[in-house]
Amino acid sequence: METLTPPINFVDVIVDVPTMQTNQPYTYRVPAVFSKRIQVGMRVVVPFGKGDRLVQGFVVGTKQEAKTTYALKAVHDLMDLTPVLNKEALHLAQWMAGYTFSFTISCLQTMLPRVLRAKYGKQIVITGDKCTLPAEIRALFQTQTALDYYDERITPSMRAQLATLQRQGELAITYLVQDQAKVKTAIWIEPAVGKDKLTEIAQRLRKNAVNQRRLITAMLESMAGFWQKDVPIPAATFIQAEKHGWLTRVAKEVYRDPYRETNISASQPPQLTPDQLRAVQMITPTITDNQNQVFLLQGVTGSGKTEVYLQCIAQALMQGKTALMLVPEIALTPQMVQRVRARFGKQVAVLHSGLSDGEKYDEWRRIERHEAQVVVGVRSAIFAPLDNIGIIIIDEEHEASYKQEEMPRYHTCDVAKWRAAWHHCPLILGSATPSLETRARAQKGVYQGIAMPRRINGKGLPRVQLVDMRKEYKQSQEADFSRPMVQAIEQRLLKHEQVVLMLNRRGYSSFLMCRECGFVLKCPNCDISLTLHMDTNNMKCHYCGHIEDIPHFCPNCRSTKIRYYGTGTEKVQEELARLFPQARVLRMDVDTTRKKGAHERLLQKFGDQQADILLGTQMIAKGLDFPNVTLVGVLNADTALSLPNFRSSERTFQLLTQVSGRAGRADKEGLVIIQTYNPEHYAIQDASHQNYEQFYRTEMQIRRQMGYSPYYYSIKITVSAATEGAAAKRIYQLNDEVKQILSPQARLVGPSPQSILRIKKRYYFQLIIKYKKEPALDAFLQTLLQQSQNDERNGVRIIIDRDPINN
Ligand code: ADP
Ligand code: ZN
Ligand code: ZN
Repeated sequence: METLTPPINFVDVIVDVPTMQTNQPYTYRVPAVFSKRIQVGMRVVVPFGKGDRLVQGFVVGTKQEAKTTYALKAVHDLMDLTPVLNKEALHLAQWMAGYTFSFTISCLQTMLPRVLRAKYGKQIVITGDKCTLPAEIRALFQTQTALDYYDERITPSMRAQLATLQRQGELAITYLVQDQAKVKTAIWIEPAVGKDKLTEIAQRLRKNAVNQRRLITAMLESMAGFWQKDVPIPAATFIQAEKHGWLTRVAKEVYRDPYRETNISASQPPQLTPDQLRAVQMITPTITDNQNQVFLLQGVTGSGKTEVYLQCIAQALMQGKTALMLVPEIALTPQMVQRVRARFGKQVAVLHSGLSDGEKYDEWRRIERHEAQVVVGVRSAIFAPLDNIGIIIIDEEHEASYKQEEMPRYHTCDVAKWRAAWHHCPLILGSATPSLETRARAQKGVYQGIAMPRRINGKGLPRVQLVDMRKEYKQSQEADFSRPMVQAIEQRLLKHEQVVLMLNRRGYSSFLMCRECGFVLKCPNCDISLTLHMDTNNMKCHYCGHIEDIPHFCPNCRSTKIRYYGTGTEKVQEELARLFPQARVLRMDVDTTRKKGAHERLLQKFGDQQADILLGTQMIAKGLDFPNVTLVGVLNADTALSLPNFRSSERTFQLLTQVSGRAGRADKEGLVIIQTYNPEHYAIQDASHQNYEQFYRTEMQIRRQMGYSPYYYSIKITVSAATEGAAAKRIYQLNDEVKQILSPQARLVGPSPQSILRIKKRYYFQLIIKYKKEPALDAFLQTLLQQSQNDERNGVRIIIDRDPINN
């Protein structure tokens, strides 16, 4: 393919080399062989550092002239035929690096599925062994992507043909064939091209006089048969060829459909309720007119927000645009994904953490090739390579999982706003319990608020009963179940109705304590007690993964009176079995849902009425819609309230409101019982009345008094080191430095030890800067980011977190 653009002689490359990161790209010379093909957004292999080791990176800029006088190093190789990052992605990375105080490379990498990331490799060694492929080539091909190996034996026309196949996404399997003269030939093959095309390729190869042509031809033909008749290729063919070093199977690109198994019946849009209609009518004109408006869709649980999303998506599709919809956690909301797929079928791509790397890559490519117009996914899906976006939706916008807790520490809502502005499209933030930041912006008119205060079924919200556990505790021996709770469960079991029980596990787990001396078994690496796991019969640290056996006697005083305390889901399950021997109980927590698809299976089972009680942690609070559930019980409402976090009231309110919404979704009336030690706390009171407005007012007052978000912005600096002294020294140094540049209006909290001082053998200190407007702060923190590389070399790690969600 001829292009009219002049050849590119120099490129700016951002490389992936840990500890050598900078937001300044390096300039490389482009050898003539690449100068017509190299493009911004491609991955390249370049020599780097003193030893000129070969590393991978992204081209972020091209130019015909370079200003520098010294000799520039040359690009070693291209990894892609077409860019993996488009113009939007490169701009977004640039913005994100600045906004979140991150290295550009971490932003670029985060936006891509793992198989398309630049990999940091040790020096790539080229071996002379004729049976092995040069590692440098293998490195290129392991990426499963555009393959363009330059070999004299591949004629230009063949290459063009192969490249076309590749571009069209028809590339399925690539073989590298090496003949005795160590000349490598790449063969691209694709199932959809069928036998004729394969034969054509085989003939072309034959013309090129590769020594193994008969073998290759035989293979191609059997492969054609394989794809057409489902006959496997004789394994011996491969083994033999590989043994000779003639052939290496390196890449496979066949779509895997993670939802192949599920049958989803198509759904038709229902008649909208007046509330829904009003919402749709407010949003859809902004899709048509390319208006960059942010909406807060605040609707109680069961008010039909999802249907509003679906109709907005339909509107975008009708206009030939695409739609991006984010959910907090797909495994927990299978019903949501099903509803989107039922409406839009094959146009939907799904991106979530339960997919294998290959499956994620496949979905990514389908999106990139415009084969999927609707994307549903979790946090990282916000980077889906959609073109021409007509609407972005973030469901349950208040969820903590939308913030990434490693570099780049971005919040999905911020990225969504950026992309919505880029595409001139609206953004919907949906929630029954919006974060205070979002709600405050709607209050101010920055966002447009849309309220849906009524449930679809016309039913009121379920009745909520608070049980004061301080009184209960005096009357009953049961640690976990109050008498009203036991009674209510009994009644449901008699009527064959279902029960959802939630155990709020945050900061609440079973630990081992000696009754003689009070010794608590702690992790040797972290400042935290180990958690007892009865299913695997050992003690685990939830921070670092440390595991040890359950001791039979106290390691401190040797007493045998050592037993576990606290309420884990396992212990509650045992207690349930004792209280209600006839009940069928399903447990849903991190331990029972580790396997792929385990969430879905548990929920399916519960939905099919194969169990009476679903017992679980926070994960059961989300999105479930089971008509036969008439009782929701919260066993410990307030464990999160005591956490040292300014959002603990907000989180408690949100969680209780959300879980209460699971009761009485259909015709039968629902009851919610909340057990608490703080029945008078406003978060619990307001949640029990489902009174968001009241909660919002009270909490905003507190935030104002305390100088918290949304009244103040905040940035948290965390320093960690192997010794307490080193970490403390550095944080105090930073404290002094930052004081110099801040205005008197800013407030500093700390320096102070983190709530858990020691994690994974490192000590943590933090400093929080609260401010309204600090013109010098950004530059200070950008410099700190660059300096952090030096600190890192001295064993000190610095983390800068804008708008931290936990502190
Ligand atoms: P939310 O997301 O606000 O909690 P949902 O979108 O899950 O609420 O809606 C609750 C229930 O009402 C779902 O079972 C949904 O299928 C149903 N539903 C939504 N809109 C309508 C409608 N216009 N007519 C009939 N049923 C509806
Ligand atoms: Zn630990
Ligand atoms: Zn002891």
